[in-house]
Order: sequence, then C-alpha cells, then structure tokens
Amino acid sequence: MLYASKKNRKNSGDLGELEVVKLISCPNCGRDLMLLPKNYPLYDVQCSAYTKN
Ligand SMILES: [Zn+2]
Repeated sequence: MLYASKKNRKNSGDLGELEVVKLISCPNCGRDLMLLPKNYPLYDVQCSAYTKN
C-alpha cells in the first residue's frame, strides 16, 4: 500500500480542507472559514471575516 500513499495523501488532503471549513472556526476571531479557489496561490482556506458580502 505504500506505493499509493502519495495519491491517497492528496485525496485525503482535499477532503481534509472541506472538513476543516465545516468543523473548525477561525482561531483568531471565531468566524467560519471559507474554502478558496484551487488557483489561489498561498492558502486553501481563509477566515470569512476577510470577505464582505
Ligand atoms: Zn478570523
């Protein structure tokens, strides 16, 4: 199973991001986190306080 660990790790990472935004809040202000687009250069998730809708 070790040979497949790289692919599995990527897949679980994508799922992990979704779980993160659902399960945890911003450690700084307690607001919800939001998932950023895949082409966003630096981060996968961001505090929703940075977005004004
Ligand atoms: Zn925040």
